[in-house]
Amino acid sequence: MTPLAVLLRQEAFADADIIRLLGLTDPSDCERLRRAAYDLTTGIIGDKVHYRGIVEFSNRCTLNCRYCGIRRDNPTLDRYQLSMAEIVESAVWAAENRYGSVCLQAGERRDWPFIDFVTECIRLIRARIVSATQPDGASITLSLGEQTLDTYRRWREAAGGADCMRYLLRMETSNPALFAHLHPGGFAHEKGYAARIQALENLRTAGFQVGTGGMIGLPGQTLADLCADLRFYQRIDADMLGMGPYILSQGADMGAEGMMEPAPLLQRALNMLAVARLVLRDVNIAAATALQALAADGRERGIAYGCNIVMPNITPRAVRKAYQLYDNKPCIDDQPTDCSACLEGRIRSMGRRVGWDEWGCSRHFRRRLGLALPDRPSLSAETQAAKSVHVGIPLRRGPARTDPAADLTSATDRSR
Ligand code: SAH
Repeated sequence: MTPLAVLLRQEAFADADIIRLLGLTDPSDCERLRRAAYDLTTGIIGDKVHYRGIVEFSNRCTLNCRYCGIRRDNPTLDRYQLSMAEIVESAVWAAENRYGSVCLQAGERRDWPFIDFVTECIRLIRARIVSATQPDGASITLSLGEQTLDTYRRWREAAGGADCMRYLLRMETSNPALFAHLHPGGFAHEKGYAARIQALENLRTAGFQVGTGGMIGLPGQTLADLCADLRFYQRIDADMLGMGPYILSQGADMGAEGMMEPAPLLQRALNMLAVARLVLRDVNIAAATALQALAADGRERGIAYGCNIVMPNITPRAVRKAYQLYDNKPCIDDQPTDCSACLEGRIRSMGRRVGWDEWGCSRHFRRRLGLALPDRPSLSAETQAAKSVHVGIPLRRGPARTDPAADLTSATDRSR
């Protein structure tokens, strides 16, 4: 068998190599994988980590995905929808706090009032967020499920046609049988395998930076399935990836199928992130919030394993509890765990920097479009030093602070 050290220096991987890397469990082997992914990330992308402030603006959903806590048939949920003003103020808060990008996510709706509402939100956010530090305004990621090509075009045009629009549409799993199990017959027309792939193609046609991804550790999912997921992301030429561990949800419909134990699940998810970096190289990879449901420093470990994006939750606190996709979702209580200053401290302690005020576009997207690639900044001394740091990220939190996003009134006052 090829020694691991040799394998990790390869630029192309056979399926058998990928499966071997995904299944690593020995701590020193996992550390070698982590180190290879981390070094490739800082080598290709640089030492910056970019924030996307996520606004979960509604938990109303017309779909019934069996794993999801906000599925249509969960009767225990109070349904909410933020107003346009609340969404725009959240985005303005993010810009004032120098996040270069916001992400609007919600349950799925495909009706005209919803489409028009989102169109207007995009237009207002683009109009409001132009400043000396962000002269090109904000970049926006949408995560609003399957829509028609016409709707995708409409949303991109609402942003003024700039290259600032991204879309995150997870394939969930590339295994058609597992996909059908998660999204069974009665509503297959609502979230069907072929339609999902078509939607990803439509997003590309409409000019978005296209993000996809899936859940890791689903009941019945094998390492070969995860390898096939990576091949799928390669095949559709994804610009961005959002992948996270599958976590059981009481409000969902998969309780009887259980979930993986937290420690091996976390390692499998981290391995997947690292291998995705090695295989897809210059894509943006987000350290999913779900990692933090398994370990307090889960997102930082994601960065240590090759992620370059984090998505701090900037949803107004009053409604956060009602957007519980899975159990133990972090950042919904009164703890300032998502405080951006505290997060920055932890990113800096890893020898990385936050890309304040920057869009942080996917390098892969810029290359695919033939756009100028930003020069990769030389690595800071801390990043060089961090190359030898083990994943034991300090769990120490920064000074306790109240998350300003929790109180949108103050954000509103500041913006006037
Ligand atoms: N409706 C949108 C986005 C909302 S859900 C869409 O379909 O794209 C966002 C993501 O949360 C989903 O794509 C899914 O991968 C993830 N998710 C849902 N339930 C989950 C669970 N129980 N554990 C982990 N991730 C989950």
